[in-house]
Amino acid sequence: MRLTLRMENWKTIITFTQPHDAHFAKGLLESEEIETILRDELTAQVNNFYSNAIGGVKLDIKECDLIKATSILKEGGYIAESGERNRKNIEIIVLKNNTDVSICPFCKSDNIYRKKVVNPLIIFVYFFLGVFFPIFKRNYICYDCNKEWIYRKK
Ligand SMILES: [Zn+2]
Repeated sequence: MRLTLRMENWKTIITFTQPHDAHFAKGLLESEEIETILRDELTAQVNNFYSNAIGGVKLDIKECDLIKATSILKEGGYIAESGERNRKNIEIIVLKNNTDVSICPFCKSDNIYRKKVVNPLIIFVYFFLGVFFPIFKRNYICYDCNKEWIYRKK
């Protein structure tokens, strides 16, 4: 059994930041008799913060099951048609001198929320230099039109 496992080519089909999401997808595939392996799960459970930086929990399948597994995950809503995981689009807005950052650039609503997102890059800075720079990306979310965006200086 072990020997046949080793001879197969295993491929990461999808990556999750949350271990429980990975378990749902694993269960879905196994219900269709597709063998799976979860990797990096322990690290992700210990610290979700690091999980983002190392690429999260990887769900591996055998290469020969790739087409079947992909269509199952698409039906389950885990993979969007483009092949990317279904996640919210983040728009990039070029910041100009007259840009009013207190309103939504799409619908002009002031019902917006500014969230702090930790830049995964700081983890690498921390590992290589041993210093912890407080670098944050700031994502904006509009409660009215439900868009999410970031500003970028020209
Ligand atoms: Zn809006």
